[in-house]
Amino acid sequence: MMSNKNSTTITQHLVEIKNLISTYEKKYGREKDSVKLLAISKKQSIEKIKEAIYSGQYCFGESYLQEALTKIIALSQQENRSNNIEWHFVGPVQSNKTKKIAEYFDWVHSIDNMHIAERLNNQRPSHLPALNICIQVNVSHELSKSGLNESDVIPFAKHCLTLPHLTLRGLMTLPAPTHQFDEQRKAFRKLFSLKQALHEQGIFLDTLSMGMSDDFEAAIAEGSTLVRIGTAIFGSRTN
Ligand SMILES: *Cc1c(COP(=O)(O)O)cnc(C)c1O
Repeated sequence: MMSNKNSTTITQHLVEIKNLISTYEKKYGREKDSVKLLAISKKQSIEKIKEAIYSGQYCFGESYLQEALTKIIALSQQENRSNNIEWHFVGPVQSNKTKKIAEYFDWVHSIDNMHIAERLNNQRPSHLPALNICIQVNVSHELSKSGLNESDVIPFAKHCLTLPHLTLRGLMTLPAPTHQFDEQRKAFRKLFSLKQALHEQGIFLDTLSMGMSDDFEAAIAEGSTLVRIGTAIFGSRTN
């Protein structure tokens, strides 16, 4: 089963990352198993995803719809454990992509536009459970980045709660990259504060989607419940 070198590496990386997540949960006083691992498989091969599945990883994140559909369809035909696979869309959502996203995904992390949220709500097939969504927030205030400004999040969340085929689960952020641990923590702390502010408005969210390969320790320190890790599991991406 683990005959080639890459496969073995992915299995080892998954073990290492899960050990680090446990270590950080303890180090920062977080509850055991309170941080979920989402494996970001964009621009990685189906073979690599299969190896991760054999190692017990069932949650995958993708950013590019066409590529994702190819993988989702192939794996649903080939893997007898494919029914357990949870697919998360983490990339920017354009309106011409919402129909397929609503049909094929379990989660969308990158909602920052009401038009898109409404289309996903209208296009979610009725035989499926509500689509889980996170509101993407721009905590680094860079004009080029996607995500809502913090001050727009509460009214936006209230509107999302009126859409019956969506379940608002939490907030997501992708801060400007920095190697400064304190700067990383500062950005993630803003998302945690927003979750608290929503809580005070009676809106209870169970997910903070924050932390990637280079900053997940800081994210766990600040309350992340889901880390989105790509290169640290699968190696660098092909282009
Ligand atoms: C690519 C991507 C990741 C994973 O990044 P790595 O640095 O490879 O861990 C996480 N979140 C989003 C939204 C991404 O697009």
